[in-house]
Amino acid sequence: MIIVMKNGVTSEHIAQLSKWLTERFGVQVNPNYGTGTTVLALLGDTSSVDQDALLRDEFVERITKVQEPFKLANRKMHPQDTIVEIAPGVQVGGNKLVVMAGPCSVESREQIIDVAKHVKAQGATVLRGGAWKPRSSPYSFQGLKAEGLELLHEAHRETGLPVVTEITNPAHIELFMDKCDCFQVGARNMQNFELLKELGHTQKPVLLKRGFANTIEEFLMSAEYLMAGGNKNVILCERGIRTYETYTRNTLDISAVPVLKRISHLPVIVDPSHAGGIYWMVAPLARAAVAAGADGLMIEVHNDPAHALSDGAQSLTYESFEETMGSLRSIAAAVGRSI
Ligand code: PEP
Ligand code: MN
Repeated sequence: MIIVMKNGVTSEHIAQLSKWLTERFGVQVNPNYGTGTTVLALLGDTSSVDQDALLRDEFVERITKVQEPFKLANRKMHPQDTIVEIAPGVQVGGNKLVVMAGPCSVESREQIIDVAKHVKAQGATVLRGGAWKPRSSPYSFQGLKAEGLELLHEAHRETGLPVVTEITNPAHIELFMDKCDCFQVGARNMQNFELLKELGHTQKPVLLKRGFANTIEEFLMSAEYLMAGGNKNVILCERGIRTYETYTRNTLDISAVPVLKRISHLPVIVDPSHAGGIYWMVAPLARAAVAAGADGLMIEVHNDPAHALSDGAQSLTYESFEETMGSLRSIAAAVGRSI
């Protein structure tokens, strides 16, 4: 349930009303002070809330029910865009697009530091790299694990770039806590609810990737798990879904971008690398994502794609990353954004 307040309502009045709603009806009240309009989002069992009494409040404009199962992630509950700050000055969801770039996997100190320096020079503001790699085959490279995390932290110290890296196990949260700036929840773990619940108890930003066989509503329900635990710093990432098409690794669901932006207030980024699955598709898919209104991109870049330990085929060389960034700048400008 949402209570839209009239202009001019004071914070004292809202505090008083919230207290009454909580004590009388046992609901949780989340006030959102927007520019002009203040909205109170009510969570829990709202069936007993006395709507007539509420409408008699001189500052209540109207009451509406939220039909969708996702509440905290719903734009109706939070009309203004959420901006997630990954590190001081690195925001996701504002006018400036975020570019997260780096190798699929951290492979060595030299590799991660070299890639970090190059992507930073080309305008990336977040370094990506997997330390724990959830691979489809148990025989594939599984990541450098704790050592990889340490190397990411070194690359951060060397370049100043904040780090996003995938977490697969709630038992690792403590370990990740001061080694990265943003958790990544991969497509394969989008519905690992125990992981989501635990990450929801931290305040560190979470980049949540859409599962390749999940609907947009399921995607937002996973965001809801994080938010219900108290973590509002959620970034959504469309990375392609499984369809009957075999030419591409996944089918980039570009329509998910405007849909998510419309029904949720959370920032949305796109990963064109895992969507197309091949290097030459990355730039056109990235441009399409920016044109469609994405708040940023996650792109795999490798110092030597031919010898990468994972996802070499879709990784960009430094040269193609530079070219891609150049073409993205003009698309961003055309839609009133910057990189
Ligand atoms: C990755 O980012 O390297 C990755 C494994 O992505 P996804 O979870 O989208 O497959
Ligand atoms: Mn990858």
